[in-house]
Amino acid sequence: MVKDNIVKVKERISLICSKINLNPDTVTIIAASKNRTTEQIKEVIETGINDIGENRVQEALVKFAEYRALNTGYRVKWHLVGHLQTNKAKDAVGIFDLIQSVDSLRLAAEIDKQAAKINKIQDVLIEVKTSPEATKFGLKPQESIEIIKEIAKLKNINIQGLMTIAPIVDIPDKARPYFRMLREIQSKVNHELRTTNSELRTLSMGMTDDFQVAIQEGANMVRLGRAIFGE
Ligand SMILES: *Cc1c(COP(=O)(O)O)cnc(C)c1O
Repeated sequence: MVKDNIVKVKERISLICSKINLNPDTVTIIAASKNRTTEQIKEVIETGINDIGENRVQEALVKFAEYRALNTGYRVKWHLVGHLQTNKAKDAVGIFDLIQSVDSLRLAAEIDKQAAKINKIQDVLIEVKTSPEATKFGLKPQESIEIIKEIAKLKNINIQGLMTIAPIVDIPDKARPYFRMLREIQSKVNHELRTTNSELRTLSMGMTDDFQVAIQEGANMVRLGRAIFGE
């Protein structure tokens, strides 16, 4: 079931990539595994997906430990895709390879502090709220560039890119402006940061209902839950 789903998703990604002349291997698939079991996560990993996205730190801590104990031998990258509260930053820094939901300077500063304590450079994405109604979290587009410039100064944080959640729409094409906005912010930030060594390369956008549109608009990371695990 999961294996078939992954084959189908990869076919759909290949098809859309062929239309825009893009190598499908440049699009990283994150299996969004909230409310799924460690056993299901293991199945996904055995099918060749190496990136797991969790929403809640507490839930992730349990699955992280359970998965470790299985000793599968497969290397996995753990992503935090849900909102992070400042008081959970320590736990998050302890297990996540990429924290995709950094949405304030205050949270970034706490992540930086916790990462410094364990000599880690924490990879992060900055979440931008491209649509007023989609979610409660994320930087406002108009303030995002200034805040990202501040976050970029933190020594134990490495900003790899941007993340957004598009609103739920009836046809996928309606999500396009939100994806486009994220890509425009990326270009602006990269222009502003050009004198430093940092470059934001990752655009994490697109979910089960709209990932094809997101890829057309420049997503190189898609977060898929239902497309992989079923409804
Ligand atoms: C649940 C979730 C996803 C995956 O959603 P689907 O529509 O099931 O693909 C992606 N990103 C975030 C932040 C999520 O919470």
